[in-house]
Amino acid sequence: MKQLPFDKAKIEEIAKTYPTPFHLYDEATLRARVRALRDAFSWSEGYREYYAVKACPNPALLQILMEEGCGLDCSSYAELLLARAIGAAGTDIMFSSNATPAEEFVFARGLGAYINLDDLSHVDFLRENGGIPETVSCRFNPGGVFRFGNTIMGRPGESKYGFTREQLTEGFRKLIGYGAKRFGLHAFLSSNNTDAAYYPALASILFKTAAELYAETGAEIAFINLSGGIGIPYRPEDEPVDIALVGARVREAYEAAFWKPDIKPAVFTELGRYVSGPAGFLVMRAMHEKQTYKNFLGMDACAVDLMRPAMYGAYHHITVLGKENELSDHLYDVTGSLCENSDKFAVDRLLPHVERGDILAVHDTGAHGHAMGYNYNGRLKHAELLLKENGSVRLIRRAETVKDYFATLDVLGLKLEE
Ligand SMILES: *Cc1c(COP(=O)(O)O)cnc(C)c1O
Repeated sequence: MKQLPFDKAKIEEIAKTYPTPFHLYDEATLRARVRALRDAFSWSEGYREYYAVKACPNPALLQILMEEGCGLDCSSYAELLLARAIGAAGTDIMFSSNATPAEEFVFARGLGAYINLDDLSHVDFLRENGGIPETVSCRFNPGGVFRFGNTIMGRPGESKYGFTREQLTEGFRKLIGYGAKRFGLHAFLSSNNTDAAYYPALASILFKTAAELYAETGAEIAFINLSGGIGIPYRPEDEPVDIALVGARVREAYEAAFWKPDIKPAVFTELGRYVSGPAGFLVMRAMHEKQTYKNFLGMDACAVDLMRPAMYGAYHHITVLGKENELSDHLYDVTGSLCENSDKFAVDRLLPHVERGDILAVHDTGAHGHAMGYNYNGRLKHAELLLKENGSVRLIRRAETVKDYFATLDVLGLKLEE
């Protein structure tokens, strides 16, 4: 059974101040997860998690992660501004972007961020826009199909990201010619992968490639960035990834690859989902019950608050608060209000009998949840709250208003409000 860090009474109390729906993030869970990650990689001198800001770009949460020693992985101007606003500077920031606008390279260089290049052509592009830093990273795409044993973990050959193997050698040589002194190597080959073998398999590829690049070009390898992609157990029956085991297996691969004392790169990670996914919950209320060919529950939230089910058919577990111990014997589609039939948090989900006014908590919304929302149908994004370790609640993003929604129509000079 999936646990919640709150109960119905707590949510009813919160809802007096902050009406549903809202995303609620649990500080204790967030800190515990990032600490477990840090412990798993404590063998690596210089290890650092660069939290993938896109997963949950709320400065209050990023601040907590910075307190835990994380850096921030940014991929756009806005994300760089968020990082800067909470005091991230220099190599606290990994700028890992693609199809990057020139001015964003210039801005990231101005902040002193690590730059992770996505393409060979970006070597000259960066040289002309911001300049080549002393330490620079390149993103590797090994192509083909990424297998581990019989399992296909990803299809990098289909992906838009990264340098080919030959391009890495060429890129490193070029960068050395332009004055680069130290290098990072990065790859992201699979997403939401709950197989403990994923990271070690990826690490082996990167460690081996880094050792080859060193042999070929003499480049000093400063860090290996294992990027994101470790998954979380969205379903109650899914096994969580044993992160300590993952860290230990990556260590074995590291020791096998870097047995010579002259290259000892730090290991970096850029996990988003793994770190914050289970720390977030979408809390919403049942507003309508409809019976036609199926039983529908109409929520006060919609896909604007959480797109993953509508977009990928993703499973998110749902708990009906106060009915945790009741039998799940009613079959429902749990829907939002968009004029879009995919706007369903769950399809054919067995739940206890739900009455109007009941509060439902959607689990694992702390990554790629609120952040992915859009404003289709003129639906507004709801608030984000932080459940602090002392049990108090802080509003960390207010709900949107129509004023926010209409802000970019100011050019028309209409009266749109009231
Ligand atoms: C999205 C992304 C991540 C984080 O991915 P998760 O699946 O949330 O771990 C890390 N690095 C890069 C470059 C990304 O694009």
